[in-house]
Amino acid sequence: MSARAQIGVTGLAVMGRNLARNFARHGYTVAVHNRSYAKTQSLIEENGDDGDFVPSESMADFVASLERPRKVVIMVKAGGPTDAVIEELLPLLEEGDIVVDAGNAHFPDTIRRENALRERGLHFVGSGVSGGEEGALNGPSIMPGGTAKSYESLGPILEDISAKVDGVPCCTYIGPDGAGHFVKMVHNGIEYADMQLIAEAYDLLKQGLGASAAEIGKIFEEWNTGDLESFLIEITADVLQHVDAETGSAFVDIVLDQAEQKGTGRWTVQNGLDLGVPITGIAEATFARALSGGVPQRTAGAAALPANAGSFDVTDRDAFIEDVRQALYSSKVVAYSQGFDQIAAASAEFGWDVDRGAMARIWRGGCIIRARFLNRITEAYERDAHLPLLLADEYFTDAVGAGLAAWRRVVSQAALNGVPTPAFSSSLAYYDGVRAERLPAALIQAQRDFFGAHTYKRVDREGTFHTEWSADRSESAV
Ligand code: NAP
Repeated sequence: MSARAQIGVTGLAVMGRNLARNFARHGYTVAVHNRSYAKTQSLIEENGDDGDFVPSESMADFVASLERPRKVVIMVKAGGPTDAVIEELLPLLEEGDIVVDAGNAHFPDTIRRENALRERGLHFVGSGVSGGEEGALNGPSIMPGGTAKSYESLGPILEDISAKVDGVPCCTYIGPDGAGHFVKMVHNGIEYADMQLIAEAYDLLKQGLGASAAEIGKIFEEWNTGDLESFLIEITADVLQHVDAETGSAFVDIVLDQAEQKGTGRWTVQNGLDLGVPITGIAEATFARALSGGVPQRTAGAAALPANAGSFDVTDRDAFIEDVRQALYSSKVVAYSQGFDQIAAASAEFGWDVDRGAMARIWRGGCIIRARFLNRITEAYERDAHLPLLLADEYFTDAVGAGLAAWRRVVSQAALNGVPTPAFSSSLAYYDGVRAERLPAALIQAQRDFFGAHTYKRVDREGTFHTEWSADRSESAV
């Protein structure tokens, strides 16, 4: 077996197969391997024309077919299977070789694997790949972590096959060890928030206007020509106008209203709690999915809970639509602002030095949350790389400020009329919380000191204090 392949892909299910084809279409000689040989054969039979593939049945032959330093992309089911493949690869690799895990690994696993492989002189690159199967084939957004050294040789290849926006690749070096998978995780969390916000906007338009799915689809189509222009708004317009062939009903009306929440949304929320970063938009979106799937609770709630709500009385249809659009935009800015805060917090915690402006730039194409307004985020971090709050950047302050009255009207109308809008409402509550000069946390601190002697600080002098609540209520410095 001559070592002639420039890159190898092991794991040829939907993602790996399409990624391998993408490499081949860009002129690379691609070694391909899968645990069961049938998938390798099917790739060669059906897509062999895409370029130069070197298929191998065994892992040993696969590794032997690669030029040194070897670049092996693992694209298998995340978790145990990734460890199993690494174990199989390890005895076959040599110092300086690069192992890329392009699956959806949880970032602590990536940190662990990177440590283990570094000790053996290997580079381990945990890389986020977004965009699903279409992205993998035609250009994904790629978020590689690992060593800067590995990026020197790997980066140009990944940039080559990534999506391009204005000629700029949607791939950049993210940072050491788990940084790549971390930002992919947050990307997915933001995706959850974005989807929930869109779903709430749809529900408000449906209930507020009594509009059909197709009519709402047209509204989203219109929205996609402005600030909200994005892949998710575009597909929403499409989905809402799709008709079920069997019943002739709007497709969305025949789909069961129970959404799943898989690994990455949950991990994002768990990590937000670990780092103490309020990612309330993402959390509400994740819990909204959990609520939708809680059938026994929903059945009991639907039977027992009165609404005691008004019913919408929309007199100015266009004004209501515009209010919902503004509320959607502002809530979306909050979700991104929170997600970027989470990246900043993790970057500081783990010493990753992630460039948030570059993050927004590589999410402009090839991924599910690709959107026009990501340019605005890049510009904000170009103005100030250490921006403590994205919302406080001048562009977003103006944009959100302009829609603030609309946002408040929408959230209050939703509450008055009994429409659940957890993401819209919590985003507005976050906005009001983060801008408040004084929060009721003062009372919480006082309560904590009362029942648990947890102490408190004062606004008027330095120090830590405790009040003898059950005695004479004297205060002492502690
Ligand atoms: P998948 O269904 O997650 O995994 C199937 C692949 O894993 C098959 O090639 C399978 O080999 C292999 N595999 C499973 N257990 C194995 C083991 N113990 N040892 C060796 N190989 C094993 O495939 P996918 O949907 O293409 O996703 C691949 C990765 O990309 C996952 O981490 C996924 O989370 C991530 N991802 C997926 C998407 C998406 O839209 N699907 C998007 C982004 C990222 P056999 O054929 O032999 O069973």
